Amino acid sequence: MKTIYKTDVVLFGGGVAGLWLLNHLKQVGYSAILLENESLGGIQTIHSQGVIHSGFKYQNNPIIVAQLKQMRQAWIDALQGSGIVQLTKTKIFAQKQHYWTQNKTVNTDFYDDLVGDDFKRLSKTDFPTVLKHPNYTGQVFEAAEMVLDMPSLINNLYENVADCIFKIKDKPVFYFNENGSMNAIRLEKDTIIEAQFFIFCAGAGNESLMNDLKINSLSFQSFQKIQKRPLHQVLIQKPDLPSFYGVCVSPEQGAFTPVIITTHYNNKKQKVWYLGGDIATKGVERSEKEQISFAQTEMQRLLPHLHWSDATWTTLRVDRAEPLQAAASLPTDVCVDVCMNAIQVFPVKFALMPEVADKVLTIFKSLKIKAIAQSTLPKLDKPTLLKPIWFESCKRI
Ligand SMILES: Cc1cc2nc3c(=O)[nH]c(=O)nc-3n(C[C@H](O)[C@H](O)[C@H](O)COP(=O)(O)OP(=O)(O)OC[C@H]3O[C@@H](n4cnc5c(N)ncnc54)[C@H](O)[C@@H]3O)c2cc1C
Repeated sequence: MKTIYKTDVVLFGGGVAGLWLLNHLKQVGYSAILLENESLGGIQTIHSQGVIHSGFKYQNNPIIVAQLKQMRQAWIDALQGSGIVQLTKTKIFAQKQHYWTQNKTVNTDFYDDLVGDDFKRLSKTDFPTVLKHPNYTGQVFEAAEMVLDMPSLINNLYENVADCIFKIKDKPVFYFNENGSMNAIRLEKDTIIEAQFFIFCAGAGNESLMNDLKINSLSFQSFQKIQKRPLHQVLIQKPDLPSFYGVCVSPEQGAFTPVIITTHYNNKKQKVWYLGGDIATKGVERSEKEQISFAQTEMQRLLPHLHWSDATWTTLRVDRAEPLQAAASLPTDVCVDVCMNAIQVFPVKFALMPEVADKVLTIFKSLKIKAIAQSTLPKLDKPTLLKPIWFESCKRI
């Protein structure tokens, strides 16, 4: 027997995009239900490096730089509990990131030009522990870029609105009005959810959802196609690792950021370094063994004063999911792609979620979407929270 539930908005995908939007929409008075088909935390979100970028790393992308600059205050408000989305239970790993060069011969004119309130050149006495070594001769800048513990962010976003989040096992069946807009979905156990609006925040999963939608209705053909940009991240564990949140910069070699290092914790509360940047983008062609061997050489080159013989190494392949770009480049803007009464979302950077939420609300306003329904909640299972790969100890290779 069919059971019909009602809500204002249905969201697909429990990564940061879906969870943030669910929190925001609920706070401003809409009823909403989020559906996740695997585990919360997504594919990309839980394995992101957690950096609230201020744009220093993306100087060739002015729109993203301008947007990221605006985001810092929105995140501070959320983390302090004075924003629309409340993140007071989210752990902040670091208030600052360090931009550092391998040695003193690297030309830093590019970074000197960025110096201001949020980007400072440091003197040796203020260097982070890992670079405070007599043999380290490089130059260090401090950027006002917070780094978050992503599992705690996901947990916080989930706990705020846990009653509205459900796990789905089967593909949804879409129902349409005569004008081609969507009006409901059918899920397992003959559960029907009627809604005014549908938001697709399923990362790479948007591709298959969009294909199903496009097959069933001509109205949604204009939704953008997606691209996946693969990464091959590296993880290092060793007993005496210091905490480090650092972007190695090498502008004169054309290799913009040879490595970006963030520090996370495994299930035994031991530190794990997580390596992204060029090492991960250029490492997609390497096998796991080749990538580890490359990372070992690279860390020896960049941080030779650390001893790496007692380190264990592993790698993670993960795709960034974004709207399709010419030459598969980094998109120049967040994607909030509207068609009839549905939106497809790709934040591009999780740090841009406040911007995404503002754009969604602007669309709701322009389409005169009013909060009308009190959600009636379906009797479906609850999803679990995904654990990041660094939670288990790294294996020795
Ligand atoms: C290695 C890496 C490092 C990064 N570092 C940073 C960083 O430091 N700072 C930054 O700002 N950004 C960073 N990013 C980018 C950022 O992580 C992403 O932009 C963001 O997490 C995307 O979130 P999302 O919710 O759109 O997608 P995802 O996190 O991929 O979540 C999508 C969710 O949808 C679910 N789903 C899929 N299909 C369906 C379906 N049919 N029905 C229901 N649910 C479905 C998935 O299971 C998943 O839970 C990084 C990305 C990567 C890959």
